[in-house]
Amino acid sequence: MRNSRFTSVLLTGVTTLAALAVGVGPAVAAPLDPVAVTAAPGDQDVEVFAEDGAISRARVPAASPFAAEPSMSAAAAGDGAVTKIVDNGSTDSKLDVVMIGDGYTASEQAKFRKDAAAKWKDISAVQPYATYRKLFNVWAVDAVSAQSGVSGDPKQSTVRKTALGSHFWCDSIERLLCVDIKAVDAYAAKAPQADLVIVVANTAKYGGAGYGSTQSPVGYEGIATVAGGNGASGQIAVHETGHSLGKLADEYVAEGQEPYRGAEPPQPNITTLSADRMRQDKVKWYRWLGKTSPDGGTVGAYQGAGNYPSGLNRPTDNSVMRSLGREFNLPGREAMIAGFYRHASTVSSATPVTTRLTATDSLTVDLPVSGTKLRWYLDGKEVTALRDRRTIAVSDLGPTGPKPAAHELKAVANDPTSAVIDPALTPALTRSLVWSVTR
Ligand SMILES: [Zn+2]
Repeated sequence: MRNSRFTSVLLTGVTTLAALAVGVGPAVAAPLDPVAVTAAPGDQDVEVFAEDGAISRARVPAASPFAAEPSMSAAAAGDGAVTKIVDNGSTDSKLDVVMIGDGYTASEQAKFRKDAAAKWKDISAVQPYATYRKLFNVWAVDAVSAQSGVSGDPKQSTVRKTALGSHFWCDSIERLLCVDIKAVDAYAAKAPQADLVIVVANTAKYGGAGYGSTQSPVGYEGIATVAGGNGASGQIAVHETGHSLGKLADEYVAEGQEPYRGAEPPQPNITTLSADRMRQDKVKWYRWLGKTSPDGGTVGAYQGAGNYPSGLNRPTDNSVMRSLGREFNLPGREAMIAGFYRHASTVSSATPVTTRLTATDSLTVDLPVSGTKLRWYLDGKEVTALRDRRTIAVSDLGPTGPKPAAHELKAVANDPTSAVIDPALTPALTRSLVWSVTR
């Protein structure tokens, strides 16, 4: 999650736990010592996920005392190798998720890739991922760790030297699984085009973290850490992508927080306004008010959101932005789909748009999302006979003129989903590809 936008707005007054954080020391410093305290400038806002689904916040160092530089032997053992574990097409037209293993030794990299694939299966089973899963590619980046497992598992005192320095008991919170951000960046940069990073730790112990603004030079939208061997931890990544891809705010309340008294926040799923006022002003999720939401109940204005107990309202009682293991609500789902389409397209083709087609060529397009409507246009005029046909021959385009001439062939693909209704977001549901045809 990239929450730099709202940390200043929504976290004002939150007691950060910086006082408990250790200073950013050398990469191989002593284990976390809550007594040796310095608030480092590189601190990160993270979210903590309890086993009962409850979510809270903490502030932790960007560096890990357990991160070990990859050794020469690690490099020889395939450190940094990149594998595409889910391949739905070229990175230009897809959202690229990069999974990096930590706490897996050279002989455990096959296990990492298996854990990563299982984790993606958990994430992509949740809506709207399930419907849109073909918009994603998933890459696995092997990080060879000197030791197997991660620090803080099974005991707080357990120390493991690993490539990304993953450790439980981060900020003295058992379930908070932190990493070394610089090390994550270095591995993420090895994959072609990281849009989203998930660190898979070699542990069965429940835990994870969601990192806020990472100032990543690699350009991805956020980092989630999950336990590779724990079935429930995939839900952590789902919540985190609500922030990074959906640009959604939290819908939970942080402990000890005063009422919100600030300006109307920018996120689409929190508001200072009542339902009546949203309807009257035609703002926020007014289009969804009264509709039955996938997370249960009807969309309204429920008190308590954005970590505040009052002064901010949320769309439904208990979506995944409030508790893990839940569904997105209707405004959340709409924002997620819009987020997917920021990185991925409704249409792609193995034939590059730079290809100059001739009279004998044919062409196939891929429509990754079921229900997508396809139309073909020649020089701006629709060839209606080809509607919804994925493979066409240039000769299908109608009679040629007296001599060969250049024409513009356009494929326009629209996802007519009823899950996105905001006119500000619907343009992303239509994409096109254009070729030049000489015939
Ligand atoms: Zn969150």
